[in-house]
Amino acid sequence: MFYLILFGPPGSGKGTQSVKIAERFNFAHISTGDIFRNEIKNKTPLGLKVQRIIEKGELVSDELLIEILSQAMEKYENVDGFVLDGFPRTLKQAEDFDHLLSAKGQDVSLVLALDVNEEEIVKRLLKRAELEGRKDDTEEVIRKRMNVYYTQTKPLIEYYKKRGKYESVYGIGSIDDISEKLFKSIEKHL
Ligand code: AMP
Repeated sequence: MFYLILFGPPGSGKGTQSVKIAERFNFAHISTGDIFRNEIKNKTPLGLKVQRIIEKGELVSDELLIEILSQAMEKYENVDGFVLDGFPRTLKQAEDFDHLLSAKGQDVSLVLALDVNEEEIVKRLLKRAELEGRKDDTEEVIRKRMNVYYTQTKPLIEYYKKRGKYESVYGIGSIDDISEKLFKSIEKHL
């Protein structure tokens, strides 16, 4: 089983590239953001609980995350791996995930980061706000989410670098060119 974490700031293209990776390698694509948006749309108890937090651009609590992730992973059979998009986002989540995998005798296979600068990110997110109307894509919330990324999520790079699991790919260019670079990186580790 291959456990890929696709890493990068909001708007770096994780969602788009995860779908392509999942297709190419028969991986299950798990996006915690998509799971939450779906729960909110369906007004489930979980959706109602997290709605405000997400609209403000803050992070949902770590305790909920590992629960949601492990449940989501259990739903898949006959896949060759997982591509995680938007998880882990804190050190606690990364540690919880390590425990979850080690209980199965598994380990994170690779952390692949999409390297996109902040100026490009803000530009892309504002465009996405126009196109998709995501409630957390307003300028104020974008700034908040970037701040959350730099303070809480970016430190994970060091965590995975120390274990020799981290690689990054330049994330500006055509979608297909970036996919090819990601595929090559993954193939080296299969
Ligand atoms: P995303 O689509 O990955 O940008 O996620 C949208 C929002 O969902 C984030 O801004 C958070 O509020 C919440 N969220 C998604 N994944 C996580 C996570 N791993 N930890 C905490 N909150 C999350």
